[in-house]
Amino acid sequence: MKRVVFYLMLVALAVCACGRKGSAPLVGISCSRTHGGTDQLSPNYSQAVLKAGGVPVILPTISTPEQARELLSRVDGIIFSGGVDINPAWYGEEVWNETVEVDPVRDRSDSLLARAALESGKPVLAICRGEQLMNVMLGGSLYQDIPTQLPDAHVHRSIKHKMGIEEESFLAQLFGTDSLEVNSFHHQAVKTLAPGLTISACSDDGIVEAYENEQIWAVQFHPEGMLREDDTWLPLFVAFLDRIRL
Ligand code: MN
Repeated sequence: MKRVVFYLMLVALAVCACGRKGSAPLVGISCSRTHGGTDQLSPNYSQAVLKAGGVPVILPTISTPEQARELLSRVDGIIFSGGVDINPAWYGEEVWNETVEVDPVRDRSDSLLARAALESGKPVLAICRGEQLMNVMLGGSLYQDIPTQLPDAHVHRSIKHKMGIEEESFLAQLFGTDSLEVNSFHHQAVKTLAPGLTISACSDDGIVEAYENEQIWAVQFHPEGMLREDDTWLPLFVAFLDRIRL
């Protein structure tokens, strides 16, 4: 009888272990805010995670480090979403001109989540503002307005453009190519890349379009938006979930 119980326990343990390994990762997604202060987020982010086989959960705006740590302890990975500009004060600059739009409440919430994410070591996918946020949190800086500071650069707002992909970058490994077309909805961009980050892709006018380190994949474009057109960018979200499962 004891032996039967022992084998039953072994089977139960094996089932638990397999269930855990095969389970869909829970992916937290930072939210944006309306001008009135209501949390909001484009459905594209959640749809991308769902399509890749993950479970998305939209994280609310928060205000304390404890709240950030608690949220990060519950999710398996985190996506930092797009939105308005990071306050230049975070990288030691004054606001240059009226093109810069900031939201101090979101800056505080995002910076707390970013710190908690870095502490947790859990995989991060940083998109657009999220890409700029992680660079600033790690000590990098931004161009506040591409047309003002880099007048020779292309327009990066509401167009598509090509980007060159660095050999051995996560994008090269995912897509096996040295060039891809991406959408572009930004007027700011990485100026100084933070220590420990490596450039993964640049547009032909020299704008950083993606970077990475062991924990973070960051893109200046919107792969979740392009997923509405076709599945070209689905492998990025599938690979992000695989990274979480490791
Ligand atoms: Mn761009």
